[in-house]
Amino acid sequence: MKSGNCKREPGPGPQLRATASGQGRLLVLAALFSLWLLAACAPSQPADPPSDVPMPEATPTAAGPREPLTVTFVDVGQGDAAWLRTPDGYNIVIDGGPVQAGSSLLQYLQDNGVSSVDLMVLTHPHDDHSGGLDTILRNVPVKEVLENGQRNPGPADDVFVSLRESNDITDTIGRAGQTLNWGCCVSATLLHPADISDPDINGNSLVLKVSYGAMDFLFTGDIGKAAEESLVASLAGSDPPVMPAEVLKVAHHGSNGSSESGFLEAVQPRVAVISVGAHNRYRHPGAAALTRLSATGADIYRTDQSGSIAVTTDGATYTLAFPDAPATPTTTPAPANP
Ligand SMILES: [Zn+2]
Repeated sequence: MKSGNCKREPGPGPQLRATASGQGRLLVLAALFSLWLLAACAPSQPADPPSDVPMPEATPTAAGPREPLTVTFVDVGQGDAAWLRTPDGYNIVIDGGPVQAGSSLLQYLQDNGVSSVDLMVLTHPHDDHSGGLDTILRNVPVKEVLENGQRNPGPADDVFVSLRESNDITDTIGRAGQTLNWGCCVSATLLHPADISDPDINGNSLVLKVSYGAMDFLFTGDIGKAAEESLVASLAGSDPPVMPAEVLKVAHHGSNGSSESGFLEAVQPRVAVISVGAHNRYRHPGAAALTRLSATGADIYRTDQSGSIAVTTDGATYTLAFPDAPATPTTTPAPANP
C-alpha cells in the first residue's frame, strides 16, 4: 500500500457549486469547506457563483468531508473500467471493458456489495469500453447513463443502446462545461468534448475531472494528441487551474498517440494509471508514452502488471491498494512454550 498527500504548489482548488434555492446552506458549506481546507492542504477558495446544477440534499458534518472516496481501476484486460464509491455511497461506473470482461466486472462489483449503479458513464462507444457495460445493464439496476451521444453501430454499442432504452434509463449527453454533483462533496466537471466533431471516435471521448476536496482524478477515455492540445488550449489560464489532477487515468491505454508532454505538464499527475491488457495486439502502452509519463515524476501503475488498482482518499490524502494481489501471508505466531 502506498500513500501520499495532496500538497502541490500551486494547488488546484475545490469547486463548490451553489443553487439559488440552497444558497444559504451552501454558503455555510463553503465556509466549513474553506476552514477544512485551510487546516488540510489546499488554499481556500470562494464559492462559485450560483449555477443551474442542483445540489443533492446532503448534510455535511461540521468537521467537513472525511468519509472516503474510492476509485478502483478494475482490471478488464485490454480496455477501461473504473468503479467509484463516493462518501455518500453512490456507485458510479466509468466504462466497462470489453464484452469478455463483463462477467468478471459484474462479479467484482457484486463481491463489493454493489446492488445498483447510480451512474454509468460511457466515455465513447468502442467495444473495449462499452462491451462489459452490457453485462452490467443486464444484471444490475442502473439509474442513469452519461455518454457523449455518438453511436458506433456494432454488437457492443447496439446492445448498449437497446438495453438502455428497454430499461428506460435516463440518458444524459455530456458536453464540456457541465458539472455533476455526487452527494455531499464529490463533483465531476466535464472538460471534453464541446461537440462530436472529431472524425476519430476516440477523440470525442468524454473527459471528466472528478474532485473531492483537494484530490482530483482525470478520466481521459481514449483521447489523442489533438484532443489533448485542444484541452490545454481551452483551459489555459483558467483560475483556479482546471487541469491539474493528482490521479490520471492515462489516455488510450498508454498509446504513443496520447499523453503528449504539453498535456502531462498541464495535468501534473502524482499517480498515472494505465488500463491495459498484457501482450495486447496494439502494443499498448507505447515506449514513447511511457517515457513521457516517467518524465512527469508520477508513479506509474498498469493493470496488466498490478491487476486492479484502488485509490482511496479522504479529500486530503490518498492511499493505493491492489485488490487482485495475492494476500500477504500472515505469520502465525508459534505457540508459547508451556
Ligand atoms: Zn480503448
